[in-house]
Amino acid sequence: MTTTNDVLTIGHLIGRTLTDVDSFDEVRDPGRLGDIVARVAAGTPADVDRAVQSAHRAFQSWRKVPTSDRSRLLFEAADVLSASASDLAPLLVREHGGVLWEAQTDFALGTGVLQHTASLIEDFFAPVQFDDEQSFISVERVPRGVVAAVVPWNMPIVLTMMKLAPALATGNTLVLKPSPFAPAALTLALQRMAEILPEGVINVVHGNADVGQALTSHPLVRKVGFTGGTETARHVMTAAAGTIKNLTLELGGNDPAIVLDDVDIDAALDRMLKGVFTRSGQICFAVKRIYVPRALYGTFADAFCERVDQYAIGHGLDEAASFGPLNNKAQFDKVTALIEETKNSSATVLQLGRKLESATDGYYVLPHVVRDVDHFAPISSCEQFGPVIPLIAYDDEQQVIDWANDSEYGLGSSVWTTDTDRGLAMARRIEAGSTFINTHAFESLDLRMPFGGIKQSGIGREFGTAGLNEYVEDHAIRVLK
Ligand code: NAD
Repeated sequence: MTTTNDVLTIGHLIGRTLTDVDSFDEVRDPGRLGDIVARVAAGTPADVDRAVQSAHRAFQSWRKVPTSDRSRLLFEAADVLSASASDLAPLLVREHGGVLWEAQTDFALGTGVLQHTASLIEDFFAPVQFDDEQSFISVERVPRGVVAAVVPWNMPIVLTMMKLAPALATGNTLVLKPSPFAPAALTLALQRMAEILPEGVINVVHGNADVGQALTSHPLVRKVGFTGGTETARHVMTAAAGTIKNLTLELGGNDPAIVLDDVDIDAALDRMLKGVFTRSGQICFAVKRIYVPRALYGTFADAFCERVDQYAIGHGLDEAASFGPLNNKAQFDKVTALIEETKNSSATVLQLGRKLESATDGYYVLPHVVRDVDHFAPISSCEQFGPVIPLIAYDDEQQVIDWANDSEYGLGSSVWTTDTDRGLAMARRIEAGSTFINTHAFESLDLRMPFGGIKQSGIGREFGTAGLNEYVEDHAIRVLK
């Protein structure tokens, strides 16, 4: 890494070394478009091959490292990641546009994933054996080989650790492709972690879709862990099909929040709003549509809007900012077009909150609440991935369950009620990877709960033992006596 006029220059991480940078892509601050945050190597398929060969060489010895040593090294890597937050979280703010506590949360969640995974490995590898008069059988978990991880820009640290931790814990090695919209803090954190691990266990190659394609189709890659959009996942599946790679896909969502008629509105809003507007709505399992009983609709919507109106948006390093800009122009154009389209419908679109002085030269969008909108409107059925939320009235429980499940997505979901049994009964009727009761935000996550989606929200699960399972094969051995 070198610094030129406060602009970082960041190469690929091959082995433990950041490569020299000949050609590069600029990373700009989405909250201050004149600021170039970093110049990051523009990768080619040849760079991908070097990174994969490095990971392949390292795999031969890393797979043989005793699990207790791999566990210890992951705990040490977690310490390195945690310590990195002090200087790298502000850098992350400048590239991905979130506010500082959101970037710090990314590091804290990533650290927690590393520690939790490291604590599980020894039990995970406990031998499964059967010995009887006829045979001796041993079922052994073995790593797959080189893992390709491809991640988006919104929470790059934890989303990477959700792949890196189970991959490395189980003896695989890694080549990561960060998003070109948030590659800098992640790469620097990984370089620090790589220094305490054997050479080549972690590698990073930068670039756009062509580099992602080269990586996810490389013959030496045995497993792809991908987080990103559903459309991109179709390309990843096609690329991986050539050599029948195993895939874990964490994709988009259109999470419903179902408010029941016994809800405590104030208590619910305290928690629900964290799940709507954090990261300006750019979270895969953000609340993306809210269903409210018709009889409560006016009261709920008024209280909701009153609170949203308190938000101030600004640059992520502005302490007064509730949340920051959208991450990139494509995202900004998509969300603003969706807002304009909704304004031209029969729905009521309210622009709320205020802009701080720091919210000038960037992709800033004020929070919008869409009232008097129905379940079938585009704003209700798409993944908006921005600070605009529809409030939809419903008439009975069967109708709201039908609407909640009327989606090609199935990531998160939530039920809001003062009656836990009723909430559990409703939860069991929802088609989703996760259903939370009286919560739907970062604080809803628990590493003991597998995380992932159904339908077009993904394949496979991350976190805990379910996450470890994605990175091993069962090797079954039988001795016939
Ligand atoms: P994206 O799909 O555009 O990009 C994700 C990553 O894929 C980036 O690194 C990108 O460079 C790479 N990529 C792009 N084209 C590729 C190709 N053809 N082959 C291989 N890699 C390619 O997504 P984004 O805009 O960065 O992120 C937003 C999306 O991610 C949203 O849909 C969001 O819901 C989803 N997401 C899902 C989760 C989850 O856990 N389910 C978490 C965060 C974000």
